[in-house]
Amino acid sequence: MTRLHCYVHVPFCRERCSYCDFFLVTRQDLLGRFFSALHSETSERLAALRESTVHSIHFGGGTPSLVPVVYLENWLEALSRHVSLSDDAEITLEANPEDLTNEKLYELAALGVNRLSIGVQSFIPEKLRALGRLHTAEEALRVTDMALDLIGNVSVDLICGVEGESPDIWAQDLDTAISSGVPHVSVYMLTLEKKTRLESFVRKGLVTLPDEGAQALMYMMACERLDAEGFEHYEVSNFSKPGFFSRYNLGCWQRESYLGFGPSAHSFLVSGDHELRSANASSLIRYMSSPREAQEYREMLSREERADEKVFLSLRLSSGLELVHLMQYHEGNDAVLENVDRLKKQGLIEFRNGVIKVSRKGFLFADKVAEELLPVRMRD
Ligand code: SF4
Repeated sequence: MTRLHCYVHVPFCRERCSYCDFFLVTRQDLLGRFFSALHSETSERLAALRESTVHSIHFGGGTPSLVPVVYLENWLEALSRHVSLSDDAEITLEANPEDLTNEKLYELAALGVNRLSIGVQSFIPEKLRALGRLHTAEEALRVTDMALDLIGNVSVDLICGVEGESPDIWAQDLDTAISSGVPHVSVYMLTLEKKTRLESFVRKGLVTLPDEGAQALMYMMACERLDAEGFEHYEVSNFSKPGFFSRYNLGCWQRESYLGFGPSAHSFLVSGDHELRSANASSLIRYMSSPREAQEYREMLSREERADEKVFLSLRLSSGLELVHLMQYHEGNDAVLENVDRLKKQGLIEFRNGVIKVSRKGFLFADKVAEELLPVRMRD
């Protein structure tokens, strides 16, 4: 029986935040049509996977918390007509504080949502204003408290590197998140994405962001403070108390099968020796008019691509990568060991008991570290 994770991309937000380049629209009047398309896509794709058991479902976006709960309920019912849901399945919903009333939280808990990932970003009014978020600092705190009471398994997202942010301001955000009692924190460094409002403000000199060095310092602060409070740094951006890691995200990083529904969603299916990656087109119009033909990309991974992916994804995790995997794919083992030794001397990795783990400092350059270790492949 295939172990499966499911992701639903809900591509609606009330407004687009200045720094965001995700695929989404602000036309909430299209929600009904989107969900009918989602039902069609779901029944089409799950018909071939009846033997699967779903271990986690992740409603992401966009802003899934703005969706009336009845839509989510109907979709979960439709899903369970095709595949079975494991008894302890994790059901996560990404939420924005402005949507989470007490009533909504009750409804979500009653539906079976047992993990909330709240897009708090900051508990500080000036930072929230600079990010153009719709919620207040007071709302963020109140909602986090309510969610902890009603759902318990709660994660908050925090962003560092906002205009005017000093290490002291960042320390306040970290301290507030820690003292709120949440068992999971995701930490992101603000990045300038192309074609966003923020990028244009920075280009015109209207906004100045802290430089890379200051951002790196803030990231290291987060690692140190969260570590001191018993959070495990289990992935580059993710910190969890024991047992509270995101099962959906961990499943993706560990290359378990997942199906992504909705425009722009990605999927990965493992079947024996075959691994298939696919992605839906980033077009809501196309999705709503022909949801059964939503995919615009499908690729069966070659042996080399699978090896590369394993290196990239494993090095993002605290569990690391076994040296034997690299040796298997490298042409000259001496070169692998030289690279490992060099990265170790630079303080970017640790190497113990045959396992390579990226260090705290190395996590700042996780992709570069992976590139340095990527296989020079054996010729078949
Ligand atoms: S709420 Fe989240 S997904 Fe929506 S625009 Fe803001 S950052 Fe992007």
